[in-house]
Order: sequence, then structure tokens, then C-alpha cells
Amino acid sequence: MSKQYYQKEIETMPYEQMRALQSERLCRQVRHVWDNVPYYRSLMEEKGLTPDDIRGVEDLHKLPFLKKDDLRDQYPYGLLAKPLSDCVRIQSTSGTTGRRVVAFYTQNDVDLWEDCCARAITAVGGTREDVCQVAYGYGLFTGGPGLNGGSHKVGCLTLPMSSGNTDRQIQFMMDLGATILCCTPSYAAYIGETLKEKGYKPEDNKLKAGIFGAEPWTEEMRRDIEKSLGIKAYDIYGLTETSGPGVAFECEDQSGMHINEDHFLAEIIDPDTGEVLPEGEKGELVFTALTKEAFPLLRYRTRDICVLTRGKCACGRTLIKMTKPMGRSDDMMIIRGVNVFPSQIEAVLLSEGYSPNYQIVLDRVNNTDTFDVNVEMTPDRFCDTVKGTQEAEKKLVNAMLNMLGIRPNVHLVAPKSIARSEGKAVRVIDKRKLH
Ligand code: ADP
Ligand code: ZN
Repeated sequence: MSKQYYQKEIETMPYEQMRALQSERLCRQVRHVWDNVPYYRSLMEEKGLTPDDIRGVEDLHKLPFLKKDDLRDQYPYGLLAKPLSDCVRIQSTSGTTGRRVVAFYTQNDVDLWEDCCARAITAVGGTREDVCQVAYGYGLFTGGPGLNGGSHKVGCLTLPMSSGNTDRQIQFMMDLGATILCCTPSYAAYIGETLKEKGYKPEDNKLKAGIFGAEPWTEEMRRDIEKSLGIKAYDIYGLTETSGPGVAFECEDQSGMHINEDHFLAEIIDPDTGEVLPEGEKGELVFTALTKEAFPLLRYRTRDICVLTRGKCACGRTLIKMTKPMGRSDDMMIIRGVNVFPSQIEAVLLSEGYSPNYQIVLDRVNNTDTFDVNVEMTPDRFCDTVKGTQEAEKKLVNAMLNMLGIRPNVHLVAPKSIARSEGKAVRVIDKRKLH
């Protein structure tokens, strides 16, 4: 693949120059927030800060954090920094972890967000010759609108499919020769599975790349999707609070996602103490939006856990990279006192040759947590004897015990019996919360 960039000067900018740009934008943004968001201004005042105390990136750590709870408390207009008459768009979170958050955009905010998505599409080889099928949900969810806008900016022929109606997705994919597919990784896996069922081979479609994000997925799942669709699968990351997808994107090197740090200044902190951690250490990702006008969050705690690294990338980009967030701090289940992430279970299943179709069910019986994992048999691993099934289950139990340090009950269930997701997959049913 020849090297392509959407905004080369920014994407390959030397670090010192990027830092100077970030510092200049940070000072301006802090002033904008101070002048227009009384809530954040009072948080700064509580710390004895004024905008004059923030002279560059080196002062970032002085600013107070914003948390999801602040956003929920200030719903809907409390963090708005522009008059509503200057806003042209509202988007909202998927509500995966509670009350939805609404975010506001000026036309300029929409433009810059779409630029970020255009960088992502270009990084996977997208050009005006491509046909880009956007199968993320459209509407309040940011996935569809974000990638749609990015695809237009690149000049791809855009198929605004939205999610769902898989038969029609496949028909359009085939008839119109889609070359890039954008959707959640769980929906990509489902499309791959459906193509196979319909008798298509991976080489029958014209797809070359997929841009999959909005939920955690493992390297094993990447390989599975790449095989079933005959493509290269790339990660993309974002959240409604910081605009949407395109905050970070993977390049041809597939070794973590470049953060669009001219717009989003990233830090990693210790989630317990709030202390800023050095590059290379694992912790909670915090973003400061440097250019957003309507909803300019400063030091927003994402609750996503990952690692940042700055170094030379084969693609030529100098933008700092983040690892895949392997779950958010609030995805983490505490089962019998042990921390467990769904991604760990997924990694075991895929390494044992199962599909990523599983569901975790937690309950509490006699004050003890019960931990069940339902796993679909794949058609080629289907056992029709009780003994065969029990042996396969035992093998999975042991592999999970090794990975997690606690023992789940594993139940192999019939192929296709776990509901498929067209958006973000529902991996955990926690009945303990209902008691
Ligand atoms: P919600 O918090 O309701 O799901 P969003 O739709 O804004 O709202 O989702 C943003 C969240 O989705 C991120 O904070 C992160 O946890 C998750 N996410 C987005 N992209 C990725 C990705 N590529 N890998 C892992 N998680 C992701
Ligand atoms: Zn790169």
C-alpha cells in the first residue's frame, strides 16, 4: 500500500511542533471554557486556578477532571459553551453504562470530527475510488454519522446502510462492490458468518478493508474477521463526549491507534489516585478536546484502560498511539473478589477455536457469586455426544481458570442460539444488580 495521509502536515508533524500547537490551543480552550461554562469555571476556582495558570501542555495536570457523572448531572445544557443558535447537531451515547449523555456540535465541530474520520479511512487505503459501506447505526449514535461524513470527505462512494437488515447489507455489498466496510466488530463477525452460510467464499466480495470500533475486540477476533471477510481489519476508537469515532485510528501497521492529538490531548492516569502516569504505563485514558467549540470537555475521564506510546511508526505518522482499550474500568466485573474483563473470556474462546459468540451470566446465590459462561458450539465443533460436550466444556473451564484465576461454569449451547448484535454486543447479564 502506498503511503497516504488525509492531512499529511498534521499527521506527520514533528513532536515539538505538535506540542507547541497543543499548548497554544489548550490556552485558548481553557479561556473559552472559563468564559462560557460556569460549572467548569467553579471547578477551577475550587482549585484556585484562573486561565492565566495554564500556559501550555506542561500545566495540563493542574486542571480539574471531568467525569461521566458531571456530564449526567449537567444534562442537558450545563456544559454547553456556545449559544444553542450556533449549534447544528446533537448526538448521544449508546447508554451502555447508564443514563445517556448528549453532546452538541457547531458546524465547525462537525467538520473537524469528519476530518478525523477521513484520516482513518485514508489510513486504511481509502480513496475516491472506494465504495464505503457504513453499517454503523445512524441517528443519535455517532458511529454512522461520523464515518459517513469522513467517507464523503475522502470522496468515497458512500453507502449509508446503517446497521441491521443483514440480507440487504450483503446484497448491496455484492451488487455495488463495496471495498471498505465500517461497523462494530461484532456486526462484522456476524456479516462474515452470514456470508458463509449463504455459500459465499471470502474472495467473492470486493472488500479490502474494514474499520471496526465502538466496542472492545481482541486480536483473535481481528484474525477471525480478516479470514471470514478476506480483508484487513482496522480498529477505530472514539466516544460521544469527545465527538465520536475517529479520536484514534489504526494505520497499515495495525499496531495500535494513532490519536488525532492536534484535536484530542491524551493523558493516562492512575484511576484510583488521579496521578498522571508516564508513557508506556497502563491506566485510564483522559482527553482534553483542544478544538471543540460547543462541548469542549477538559480532562475528561473516559474510564477506558489502555497504554500510550510515542515512537516511530512504519506508516510515517508521528501521532501518539494508544493500545486497544481492553474494556473500560466499568466493564470490569468483580466476581468473587477477582477482577474479570469480558475481553479475557473472549481471548480464551478464540484461542480455543470457538466463535466470539458468548454471554456471561452473573448471579448471587447464598451470598456467593455464580459465574456462568454460555458459549456457542460452532458447526464444525458440534458434538452430539454428552461425553464429547462435557469434555469440551471441561477444557474451556480449565483454560478460563488459567487466565482468570477463578472457575466459571461453561455451557456449550447450540450454534446460533445466542442473540447476534447489529451494534454493540451485550456480553454480560449481571443479575446481581437486580437484587
Ligand atoms: P457508551 O458509553 O454509551 O457506549 P459511546 O457510544 O460514546 O457511549 O461509546 C464510547 C465507548 O465505546 C468508549 O468509551 C469505549 O469504552 C468504547 N469504544 C469505542 N471504540 C472502541 C474500540 N475501538 N475498542 C474498545 N472500546 C471502544
Ligand atoms: Zn502508523
